[in-house]
Amino acid sequence: MELGGLQALWLGSHADPGIIRDPRDLARITEAFRFTASLFDSLHGICGTPYVLADAGNLSRLMRYNEPTRANAVRAAAAARLIDAMPKLGQRTVARLSKMTPATDVLRSGETLADYARRSISGTGHVSGTCRMGAANDPLAVVDPQGQVHGMHGLYVADASVMPTVPSANTHLPTIMVAEKIAGGLSR
Ligand SMILES: Cc1cc2nc3c(=O)[nH]c(=O)nc-3n(C[C@H](O)[C@H](O)[C@H](O)COP(=O)(O)OP(=O)(O)OC[C@H]3O[C@@H](n4cnc5c(N)ncnc54)[C@H](O)[C@@H]3O)c2cc1C
Repeated sequence: MELGGLQALWLGSHADPGIIRDPRDLARITEAFRFTASLFDSLHGICGTPYVLADAGNLSRLMRYNEPTRANAVRAAAAARLIDAMPKLGQRTVARLSKMTPATDVLRSGETLADYARRSISGTGHVSGTCRMGAANDPLAVVDPQGQVHGMHGLYVADASVMPTVPSANTHLPTIMVAEKIAGGLSR
């Protein structure tokens, strides 16, 4: 996320600690966070200090400034000019207004990072697997490997719902791939 020229890392917008109740998920997400933060080390000369939203569990205040209004256009132009003219002061001002803190604060220890993850983790709208693909003897499977609903001749599903497990990645391109594969099978 880029905020007024500051590079901001964040985990989510509506904290849902249930997502990382399993310690393996917490370990996975904190490792991913550390890895992402490490990428900024090599980009320090270009991007400056990476910041995190201190209150990532409550983004609604900040998102108000994302609305395409005339007032926000004026604010954004003023912030951009300030950052261009006085990068350090501008970055500090934007960081203070948007309640950001340097990523190093969060990365201080395993516990500070875990605490940040618990306070700010959320889902990302990648709903999938509600109609999963699997063998006929799988009680949780809805469609077969061709996308046809088990026991229903001629009824196919070709979207993110057929993914057998929830992917640890973005779902847009995989959904297109699923659709192309199933459509390809139907056209043969
Ligand atoms: C806020 C948000 C941000 C996302 N950002 C990313 C991202 O950055 N990168 C990424 O890879 N993925 C992203 N995703 C996920 C990605 O958009 C979805 O995984 C993908 O669109 C799923 O495709 P789909 O065809 O399964 O479902 P959808 O794209 O939801 O398509 C379902 C369609 O069915 C229609 N529909 C629903 N009910 C009916 C009905 N009864 N009759 C007729 N039509 C109906 C809907 O209007 C919709 O057009 C994001 C999702 C959300 C919600």
